[in-house]
Amino acid sequence: MGKYLSAKCKICRRVGEKLFLKGRRCYTSKCALTKRKYPPGLHGPKGYPRLSEYGLQLREKQKIKRVYGVLEAQLKKYFRQARRKRENVAEEFLKQLEKRLDNVLYRAGFFTSRNASRQAINHSHFLVNKKKVNIPSYQVKVGEIIEVKKEEMKKKIKENISKEKQIPSWIHVDDKKLTVKIIKEPEKEDLPKEFDIDLVTAFYSR
Ligand code: SF4
Repeated sequence: MGKYLSAKCKICRRVGEKLFLKGRRCYTSKCALTKRKYPPGLHGPKGYPRLSEYGLQLREKQKIKRVYGVLEAQLKKYFRQARRKRENVAEEFLKQLEKRLDNVLYRAGFFTSRNASRQAINHSHFLVNKKKVNIPSYQVKVGEIIEVKKEEMKKKIKENISKEKQIPSWIHVDDKKLTVKIIKEPEKEDLPKEFDIDLVTAFYSR
């Protein structure tokens, strides 16, 4: 699977927003955007340029791509599939991103970043309905139960689990057995609010 090699903090600095790509570090004063709130590069300290309508759409699309860690082709595929449903395209688009296995384990609080979640899935640490799944983009379905396969991973996850983590209503986490159950489809109120999804749909509808 392809991956972004650009330094994660530079991505945040380029868009001018905290995208929480580095786990715990993002919540500390070590966050690069807290220390240097301007774009990277020689002319960075001059500040952020004013963007055209197209620039705004592009930036929002890049933001969503980096946050979920998906490549352009996959993001386009999610959009095409959402458009086929004809209604609530923006909502459908976000739902597909939310239902990715790597995102579900991140939302469940098992990992402090989607990147760490993706890596653990790639290393075959999880079972979905008792079957090995090592594809981070796997779309979870209602009724499915995700389990941790190996003891060493259980130990790591226990260290990550925090009581303060807000778990979305469409998933149920058993933090003793370390299982995640998909109890329903994500609804509008469960979807993240930090994206201007209309800008992203406008970008792909051009
Ligand atoms: Fe972004 Fe700050 Fe996290 Fe770096 S530490 S990825 S700048 S939120």
